[in-house]
Amino acid sequence: MATLDECVIFHPLVMPEPMSGCWLWAGCSSAKYGQIRYKGRMQQAHRVFWEKENGPILDGLFALHRCDVPLCVNPDHIFLGTQQDNINDMMTKNRHRFTPRIKIPWPRVQEIKKLHETGNYSQRGLGVILGVSPRQVGRIINGESRVKE
Ligand SMILES: [Zn+2]
Repeated sequence: MATLDECVIFHPLVMPEPMSGCWLWAGCSSAKYGQIRYKGRMQQAHRVFWEKENGPILDGLFALHRCDVPLCVNPDHIFLGTQQDNINDMMTKNRHRFTPRIKIPWPRVQEIKKLHETGNYSQRGLGVILGVSPRQVGRIINGESRVKE
């Protein structure tokens, strides 16, 4: 059971950011999210702060950041969504560079191949011009990209 005392223990680890209103987690973190020991196990700090404010998060839901600051634990900056919402959110915020495949329309693939064949463009350069990652350009050139219309 969460108590007010626990809240007080949390707060020395939070640094309010006056410009954005973010509460930056200064405790330990793993990967990109803050970590906190809560109810006997390590959990994502921003989830715990949201739960303290709003109640338990249902299984299968993710605590997502409006402010796009993974270390932020301000419950006002966090909303719940499904895995699909999480993906959509990443796409709109343009953080999808690690997504292994995006669907590139066939004319675009041909365009990329043609430009590459001229020998005037590096994969990186093509990526910048066409708004895809150099790795994707490489896949396209090597014919590895599966394309769906
Ligand atoms: Zn924030």
